[in-house]
Amino acid sequence: MRIAVYSTKPYDREFLANAASETNLELDYFEARLTPSTAALADGYDAVCAFVNDDLGAAVLLRLADAGVKLIALRSAGFNHVDLDAAARLGLPVVRVPAYSPQSVAEHTVALMLALDRKIHRAHSRVREGNFALDGLLGFDIGSRTVGIVGTGKIGVAVATILRGFGCRLIGYDVAENPEAVALGVEYVSLRELWEQADIISLHAPLTPDTHHLVDAFAVATMRDGVMLINTSRGALIDTAAAIEGLKTGKIGHLGLDVYEEESDLFFEDLSDTVIQDDMFSRLLTFPNVLITGHQAFFTVEALQAIANTTIENIVAFADGRASGNEL
Ligand code: NAD
Repeated sequence: MRIAVYSTKPYDREFLANAASETNLELDYFEARLTPSTAALADGYDAVCAFVNDDLGAAVLLRLADAGVKLIALRSAGFNHVDLDAAARLGLPVVRVPAYSPQSVAEHTVALMLALDRKIHRAHSRVREGNFALDGLLGFDIGSRTVGIVGTGKIGVAVATILRGFGCRLIGYDVAENPEAVALGVEYVSLRELWEQADIISLHAPLTPDTHHLVDAFAVATMRDGVMLINTSRGALIDTAAAIEGLKTGKIGHLGLDVYEEESDLFFEDLSDTVIQDDMFSRLLTFPNVLITGHQAFFTVEALQAIANTTIENIVAFADGRASGNEL
């Protein structure tokens, strides 16, 4: 089977090539993102392997199906970028990597919390300039605070497990209660109660029509003054304009983002020689209490290995006419 692998960097190639070494799959790597204009690169391939910012909307899927592509293999857990209805209409199966290392994302989430709280990003710059003053670096004990986890699935539970060690009070909101979270001491509350009670809010729900702009101006207004908001799930869970307003009024005291609603034009590329055209993103960068990473929460050796292994297993299962269990 020939697979067109989009949005690849050298690290993706290394882990995928390793995982496929004992198979007879033929992987061709493209650095380009999958878009309507790059879909033609997949002509003559049996499968397309795609990542989080690839465009798998109806137009691209139709183009791929017309070219004879028979499988879409996602290298991600999230699938908000795939038009599943269109894929079903075209008879194009979509497989994903439902869990690769919830720990990787959870640890990055807590890293953002700690860095923002203790202002590590600012302290690092100061010390390098010989400024050892502590003014402005005052933090708080995370262990004495209430943390609200929105979405208590695999990553939410991994975050709760770490924070339980800190001694935090843990509250959670989900459309379905997870017994694992309850066993960790997570107290389920309504979304409104979570906004009202949490000192730190961490988002781990998938992006769906229901969660799009879950954090809007109303939600921000309901939160505690000086709340810390962390998003390592998907950018569009937060209405960026509402977050900027919340930062300007001081309602939001700390904002940690690994994802951004318009990230597909920015993330995963070196744009250091270009002028960023996204004014909202540029505004976010001006706040001293905002810390942004470029969708790197998943980026650990363990996670890349697991993503590559499951992706290859998913494709081999399809080639053998078996179900992998990871079909959407
Ligand atoms: P999961 O499916 O195990 O958990 C998601 C949880 O969200 C479930 O418990 C589900 O019931 C809940 N949920 C669904 N709709 C909801 C709603 N409307 N309100 C509240 N909760 C809702 O998924 P996971 O593995 O924990 O991953 C969570 C998300 O993290 C993924 O969807 C993905 O977008 C994101 N993610 C980000 C990175 C990264 O590198 N930043 C990496 C992996 C995953």
